[in-house]
Amino acid sequence: MQTPQAAGRPGLVSLVGMVRSGSTYLEGYLADQYGGIAVGELIGVWGAMENSEILCACMNRPLECSFWCEVVGRYEGLLDPDTRRFMQETNRRVMPVRNYRSWLQTLRLPLNKTMQWYCTEVSRLYLAVGAAAESAGSHLVVDSSKHPFFYGLARASGGFEAFEHTPAIRLVRDPRGVLYSLARPKAQVTTQGAVTQMVAHGGIRGIRYWWAMNSAADRVVPIGTPMIRYEDLGSDAVAYLMARWGYREQPAVELTRHQLVANPVRQQGTRTFQLDARWQAAGLPWRTGVATMLRPWMRRYGYLDKPQSELDRP
Ligand SMILES: [Zn+2]
Repeated sequence: MQTPQAAGRPGLVSLVGMVRSGSTYLEGYLADQYGGIAVGELIGVWGAMENSEILCACMNRPLECSFWCEVVGRYEGLLDPDTRRFMQETNRRVMPVRNYRSWLQTLRLPLNKTMQWYCTEVSRLYLAVGAAAESAGSHLVVDSSKHPFFYGLARASGGFEAFEHTPAIRLVRDPRGVLYSLARPKAQVTTQGAVTQMVAHGGIRGIRYWWAMNSAADRVVPIGTPMIRYEDLGSDAVAYLMARWGYREQPAVELTRHQLVANPVRQQGTRTFQLDARWQAAGLPWRTGVATMLRPWMRRYGYLDKPQSELDRP
């Protein structure tokens, strides 16, 4: 097999799973180490283009960022108000986890006209991102959209044809760590200065969110898709995986990080991975309940290999 770095077209690595699982760190790391570009959550790019406050991870406004200017030059839908409105409205309608069952059904059946239109726009975005990355001399694009339904649609859309190699990584994290993180607001730098993000999910809603995203992610990724746990991001598991896929470490191509939509840490430059285990010391009353409710999934991801008392130890 020709390695992505020897081919003309870049490879695409899609991170699939739940938010607050380390995807922003992972995509930045991959982009830095393998001559790639981290593009953030492509699912949200239409909305980001409409938001006058958003700054790219390179700290430019989207239309002042060299990478996104290249993308927009190839895909005018990002500037078209009707397309942006349609994509945002469709995202708001179909992506919430209350639609979990219809995600899986939709991916099995022929798409209706609305979802065909949606997929056409998704395809155009991926084709433009791939072409822009190739033009920048990049060998790798990392998409941290994570949403399993969006990943399934993107994969079926034809947009992955811009890439030489399109593996996914199933990213998982202990639900207690995710819920703790979801309950903490994060400040990000915008064109208006620092603002605080809204906390979207907490308590029981967070449990359902974690379950639906992970359960659907397991179903939509191809058989054999490797799983990386947040807790293993500081190990050599990722380097081993990339070597298996034929990527060799190499200098970055100019700026590597162009996430418009991602965790605010995207704006903090290169960082080494630091395990955030504050949830273990937080003494949250719901922690044991979460472990009980999600026990089968935690076992599937290896979080119950250790005695429960050890996992719960502050
Ligand atoms: Zn940028």
